[in-house]
Amino acid sequence: MNTPADNAIDWQAFRRALGDVPTFDNPKILKAKSRDFFWYSPILARKLDGCIADLVARPRTQEELVRVLKLAYAKRVPVTLRGRGSGNYGQAVPLEGGLVVEMTGLDRVLEIGEDFVRVEAGCNLHRLNEALRAHGKELPIFSSTQRIATIGGFVGGGSVGIGSIEHGMLQDYGNIIRISALSLEAEPVRHEFTGEDVNLLHHAWGINGVITELTMKTAPERDWINCISSFPTYRAAFDAGTALGHRRDLRRKLVCTVDAGFTPYFAKLEGRVETGRHLMLTLIDRGDLPAFVGLVREWGGRTDLSLDETEMAAEGLPHVFEFSFNHTTLQVLNVDPSVTYLQVRVPAPIDAERVDAVREILGDEVLMHHEFFRLNDELVAADLPVVFYTTDERLYEIIRIYEDHGCPVSDPHTFIIEDGGMKHADYRHLSWKKRLDPQGLLNPGKSKEWPRVRHLDPAAIEALHPGAAPGAG
Ligand SMILES: Cc1cc2nc3c(=O)[nH]c(=O)nc-3n(C[C@H](O)[C@H](O)[C@H](O)COP(=O)(O)OP(=O)(O)OC[C@H]3O[C@@H](n4cnc5c(N)ncnc54)[C@H](O)[C@@H]3O)c2cc1C
Repeated sequence: MNTPADNAIDWQAFRRALGDVPTFDNPKILKAKSRDFFWYSPILARKLDGCIADLVARPRTQEELVRVLKLAYAKRVPVTLRGRGSGNYGQAVPLEGGLVVEMTGLDRVLEIGEDFVRVEAGCNLHRLNEALRAHGKELPIFSSTQRIATIGGFVGGGSVGIGSIEHGMLQDYGNIIRISALSLEAEPVRHEFTGEDVNLLHHAWGINGVITELTMKTAPERDWINCISSFPTYRAAFDAGTALGHRRDLRRKLVCTVDAGFTPYFAKLEGRVETGRHLMLTLIDRGDLPAFVGLVREWGGRTDLSLDETEMAAEGLPHVFEFSFNHTTLQVLNVDPSVTYLQVRVPAPIDAERVDAVREILGDEVLMHHEFFRLNDELVAADLPVVFYTTDERLYEIIRIYEDHGCPVSDPHTFIIEDGGMKHADYRHLSWKKRLDPQGLLNPGKSKEWPRVRHLDPAAIEALHPGAAPGAG
């Protein structure tokens, strides 16, 4: 997909013009910083492997970032923003080469207030949580990749995570309080987004603005206990997960059920979980542990492990959430690189019969794993099944089987933003792209709708709605 002729610029001169801003052009570094976790998908692995940046810049201050953006604009260079590249769909892959701007140098925690934190976009999630804990607070929602990911990458590319069982999705009002972003123009302009307007940039994959600072909601710190419970059937685990999801009187930060077929892949839990039993992984506030254990018993299960953070570390165990969300898939991929995965919604009200029906049809071809969280304040579950991949055709048949059972699939095998979870163009994202990135230099190639609307003015783009056919441009 790289078209070097399009990037026929003198990169050494470009580098020199950036002065002391750290830049990298070592081929190994260029390759490493041009990748994310797209390789979960055999389809994306085939398509994206050869997409490599010409140069990586890692500004350390907002002043350096502005310098980088001004030069990129002057030279009309494609710019792909990168946190730590833990996204899954090639979100941070520079399809057209050019410049990758790694944001990890902008990592200061700027202000911790009563119920908010203001932070630079490149700050690591774990470091941010640690800084908050020193003030008796924590992030209400964070990605299971907190050890590596940045807050800017989470807001730019993520959607849901540890804590979403209580606080909903990132997009829900009040989770993101303010986004500060720079435009990519001759003189980059700083824009502020608050209230519902944060969703004009959230989950836009860095196509419509450079997020520099974020103000995020915080929650009081809790003493979370990592719990692993087990059940004789997957249905029993799933029903317990649903019941726990509905118990808003209990403080829980994670509710996740995992098919017994995963346990042989969970090397770090060897001896901790019994072969053949289906699991529920949870984070429960210490004060609610007795009620939780009772709930598990009511649904025919038992709690095999309950340890706080310090005890987990002392026993050499990772957090339970490192077996949840897309980590569940990663644990299997580490052993068997031929598998892949899907992202399936079990809509509200959760109907376990749908899950049973699909299990009956797909049998051993998939291993199911459900994350429970709130969407529009209703409890939903997302299945992130591991799929024992054979062909692309069969993968898409499996998607159809899920969808025929009323469980919509967000296709994780595409790098086109409109073809994944959204299923249609977000014209508000694109109208802000026109405002903040008039030349279409940010993360080019990720929106299939952009080339069709880029000739319109922002208001005209915003007036479009899903399904509307704009004039060719
Ligand atoms: C094992 C595993 C587990 C995961 N678990 C979760 C999970 O629990 N929840 C979840 O939502 N996702 C999850 N993900 C996806 C991903 O890890 C998260 O979205 C993560 O927070 C991305 O952070 P990052 O710093 O690595 O971003 P990157 O991958 O570097 O970037 C993600 C996107 O954001 C854009 N971006 C980065 N920085 C900026 C910026 N400053 N301004 C504008 N755009 C920017 C990039 O261009 C890219 O499109 C998981 C992925 C893996 C592989």
